[in-house]
Amino acid sequence: MQTRICDTCGKNFDSKRKDACYCSPACRISAHRKRKRNVTDKTKDKIRTLKKELSTARGIIQEQKLEIEALTGEIKRLSNENIDK
Ligand SMILES: [Zn+2]
Repeated sequence: MQTRICDTCGKNFDSKRKDACYCSPACRISAHRKRKRNVTDKTKDKIRTLKKELSTARGIIQEQKLEIEALTGEIKRLSNENIDK
């Protein structure tokens, strides 16, 4: 028997196993849920960052689109002037 400290509740507990981290199945499950939640939070953060980048990229594309439209209009105007001459 070994006295260990539970990773979840911090209580001392006796364990036959050297690698036991939790005093009870409830603490083991709770730790597992917590870990899962952390992963979910990280994923949400990543999605938020990506959405921000996407909206920045969309803004840039929109600007370039307007610039292209303006330039296209300019080219049309210039070529019409040439035809008229
Ligand atoms: Zn515990």
